[in-house]
Amino acid sequence: MGFCRRNWRALLCGLAMAIAMLLGPAVQATPPAETCFVVSADAKVPDPTSLQCTGVPQGYSEGTLWLRVPIAPAQARNASLAVQVTRFEQLDVYFEHQNGVEIPQTVTEGAFADKWHVGGQLAFAAPGDVPTQAVWLRLEGLESYDLLKLRIVSSAAAQRQFELTSLAIGAALALLGIAALFNFGLAVGLRRRFFLWHGGWSAAVMLWGVVWSQIGLLVLPGIAGTITSRLATGLACFAILLAALATASALRGILEKAVLRLLVGLGSAMFAMGVASGLPGADITFFAPLLGIGTLMSVAVAVICIATAWRRGHVEGRDLAISWALPMATLVLTLVVDLGGVLWGGGDKIVMLFASALQVVCLTAFATARLGALRVERDTAIATGKRLAELAERDPLTGLLNRRGFLARCAKDFGGRTTMPFGLILIDVDRFKAVNDEFGHQAGDEALILLADKLKTFEAAHDCHAGRLGGEEFVLGVSGIAGADLRRLGEDVRTELAKCPFDAIAPDLKITVSIGIAQGLADGPFGPLYRLADDALYAAKRAGRNRVVTVEDGSDHGAGSTFTHGAGPPHSAR
Ligand code: GH3
Ligand code: MG
Ligand code: MG
Repeated sequence: MGFCRRNWRALLCGLAMAIAMLLGPAVQATPPAETCFVVSADAKVPDPTSLQCTGVPQGYSEGTLWLRVPIAPAQARNASLAVQVTRFEQLDVYFEHQNGVEIPQTVTEGAFADKWHVGGQLAFAAPGDVPTQAVWLRLEGLESYDLLKLRIVSSAAAQRQFELTSLAIGAALALLGIAALFNFGLAVGLRRRFFLWHGGWSAAVMLWGVVWSQIGLLVLPGIAGTITSRLATGLACFAILLAALATASALRGILEKAVLRLLVGLGSAMFAMGVASGLPGADITFFAPLLGIGTLMSVAVAVICIATAWRRGHVEGRDLAISWALPMATLVLTLVVDLGGVLWGGGDKIVMLFASALQVVCLTAFATARLGALRVERDTAIATGKRLAELAERDPLTGLLNRRGFLARCAKDFGGRTTMPFGLILIDVDRFKAVNDEFGHQAGDEALILLADKLKTFEAAHDCHAGRLGGEEFVLGVSGIAGADLRRLGEDVRTELAKCPFDAIAPDLKITVSIGIAQGLADGPFGPLYRLADDALYAAKRAGRNRVVTVEDGSDHGAGSTFTHGAGPPHSAR
């Protein structure tokens, strides 16, 4: 009830459309008005006086239907008969001239020889040397007189029309084929069911086009005739089911399940009817109106679904509406108005093929654009994630790596260098508490930033990483330097840090650092090496600060380690 109240306008609109379509006048382009007929069992061309020229032939499915279509004097030479139905067992065509009739040109179910043309038509050319005044058709096993469409055209015009028709149909089929492959690719790559159904719909419409237009006869000439027609009807119904599935999967989560089930249910019923109408012995005159009504109902429900989704503000609804509008309108138009006569016969099918191709291209483009937007969002999220991870590894005050970042970078960059020495230079600011007390916390912060900036220059000049382990304790992890070189580097660090322009913060501010150095291997554990460096640093503090102390052998954790003291002014122990 709620659904109906909310969507009463869309519902009414859809129902009104369906009713209008069902009641609308179906304009049929059956054989030309002057066509006369007789149903007989005789194989001889009947006497023209026995022909009936009004009404519609009855009982032709049990007997033989003879038709006589007059040829206008203007078309007397080089006339061609184009026949648009292939639901029969045998067709003999006789061209009539003043002296009687020609030898018949015959096609039978499964053997259309060279009479078939792309566009679902058969063409029979009159002998060019004698003017013809009428053409006779002898039809065995015709399924429906209502489906029979005939045209008389000049042979040259027929040839040109068939070529152009082939071109148009080929282009539409190529578009549909490419779209089907693209959608199947997206279905596999993105694991989205919508693309599977949508690709299936494109493929089914393409196959329908191949079968209906008779291009398929190039490969399988034996399916000519009723089989082709039944196959085409089945494929058209299958395409409707796939379209319903595609629409339902696009609107899943947007519309109520019951409504989507109704849509898919109608599609399934259409498919079942399509299969049933194709079974041997099935009466197409019984199924044709049912298929028409089923198609209109499917379209009406799909219109309601799409309109509702759009009204609820979903972009999927808008995209579906824009894309489906043309094929749906075309489908309805071809059901209500007979376009078979335009575009040199088969116009309704060609228009439908192009409308479908356009729909597939539109919807694929919309979906791809939406996926493109999702991709941009995903890339932004990944970039943000990376930035956050980077920030989580940095100390906000100085911009140096924090403990976690320092350990991660050293492990990443130096961890694999199993044979290379790795030196840990641990730096602690001397009497920093006093700096804070005397010059203020702000000055202390600025001093820490100056020290960090200086350490960054070492990071740039050497194969090392600099970090702030906490408080006023910094670290350099150096790869490839050992012994005296490492110690020299430690001395450089000490002297360079002391030369930072602290007087810019406060005129009397002077800062020194104490340094402990330990040496080990890059792939060794950090903890023991850090403890050694810390011990060395503690020794430097005890020895009076502003100096470097080195543990010569980091692999020997503790006992027996040799500390080498660097020069510096004497201070009290830490
Ligand atoms: P020592 O020479 O023995 O290392 O003396 P110290 O005063 O440097 O050592 P202590 O560990 O007693 O004090 C460290 C001081 O560093 C205490 C704290 O106020 C200061 N500190 C730690 N982190 C920061 C910071 O981010 N900014 C500022 N301004 N001070 C900090
Ligand atoms: Mg300190
Ligand atoms: Mg400290």
